[in-house]
Amino acid sequence: MDRKELMAGKKRIVIKIGSSSLVHPETGDMDLVKMERLVRIVADISNSGKDVVLVSSGAIAVGRKTMKINERPKEKSVKQACAAIGQTRLMMVYQRLFAEYNKVPAQVLITKLTMIHDENRRNARATFAELLSMGVIPIVNENDTVVTDEIEFGDNDTLSAIVAALIHADLLIVLSDVDGFYDDNPKVNPNAKLIEEIDYITDDFEAMAGGAVSEFGTGGMATKVAAARIANDAGADTVICNADDMKKLRHVLEGRNEGTLFRAHKNENFHLIDYLNKKHEEALS
Ligand code: GLU
Repeated sequence: MDRKELMAGKKRIVIKIGSSSLVHPETGDMDLVKMERLVRIVADISNSGKDVVLVSSGAIAVGRKTMKINERPKEKSVKQACAAIGQTRLMMVYQRLFAEYNKVPAQVLITKLTMIHDENRRNARATFAELLSMGVIPIVNENDTVVTDEIEFGDNDTLSAIVAALIHADLLIVLSDVDGFYDDNPKVNPNAKLIEEIDYITDDFEAMAGGAVSEFGTGGMATKVAAARIANDAGADTVICNADDMKKLRHVLEGRNEGTLFRAHKNENFHLIDYLNKKHEEALS
């Protein structure tokens, strides 16, 4: 199926945006124009009758900026305080921007515990279903303020894939500060080529993804490919594309060849809870 046809058929879309795409790199202040464009596209997806969930980072970055903390906080309590401060500011801006388009956003904060605990996970799924049936736009983040090392996802790439799997989304779009997946590191090798489409993420392929970390977020390409793999296994196509210009997000939705598309391949052996338990045990060991 070509991309145009593929994208036209999507019914439930999760869009993830990272901290570095939400703030001006020069100042660390929120990039309101970019946020406004993102919100307009998300509102329009909802207007077109599709379900849409936004996974937004930025709590810690915005909190840091608010409290004039220039360095990435090392102490957990500082990081958690920044998250508490930044999350409300972030939501205040989203609230205002969505209101411009008569849309109701809702905040959903999650930890790994929410997902591992059967009753919590079922509750979360039911809440998402209810919100989406109301035409509300859930805005998800990790509950960074209370999370401990053992129960944190740590990056919103993984979280967005887990959310996509939880709510049976058919498309995950990870907005990043790179154009997509390259056959080599484009920051080092100017001849690196963007790969437009990947049919199947193998272990070798995942290992190739490396682990670059940007200044404001925690996710590098490795976490994005790992996230694509979870989403693909759960049955959702995944696109990694650049958030530098929100036109690119529109292009993805129109089915143009933008970013890298990782094709879904529903893996009958993939069970969200098994995956989470395995990761949880790894984190504890
Ligand atoms: N949850 C973190 C925040 O909102 C971001 C995690 C990430 O960078 O992926 O600040």
